Amino acid sequence: MPKKSDKKIIFERVKDMPPLAVSLYTMDYNKTGSWRNVRPVINYDKCINCMICWKFCPEPAIDAEKFEEDGKEKYRPAINYEYCKGCGICWTECPVEGAIYTEEEAE
Ligand code: SF4
Ligand code: SF4
Repeated sequence: MPKKSDKKIIFERVKDMPPLAVSLYTMDYNKTGSWRNVRPVINYDKCINCMICWKFCPEPAIDAEKFEEDGKEKYRPAINYEYCKGCGICWTECPVEGAIYTEEEAE
């Protein structure tokens, strides 16, 4: 576990921060994947790319991934397992049955 003193500081003072709830530190030491016991998996055959999971994820764990379909550039969610903590918000909020399923983490 990294020590707080090892963290890299982005903002020295709260008044330098943008008007958003962001950490004082970079995300380098905030990886959550090591203690997750269940992981979400996206089934792209069912996903409708509504990006609701991206909007509700409380970690920087869902990226908008560019892909091409019918000659058009589109975006779909891609889970970054280094930051996903397995909280379940994405699969709870997803409006499509089976578009996000879960897998247990191996020991
Ligand atoms: S399980 Fe939680 S942290 Fe992981 S991608 Fe879903 S909403 Fe984000
Ligand atoms: S909420 Fe569900 S259907 Fe919408 S983009 Fe995420 S996985 Fe796909």
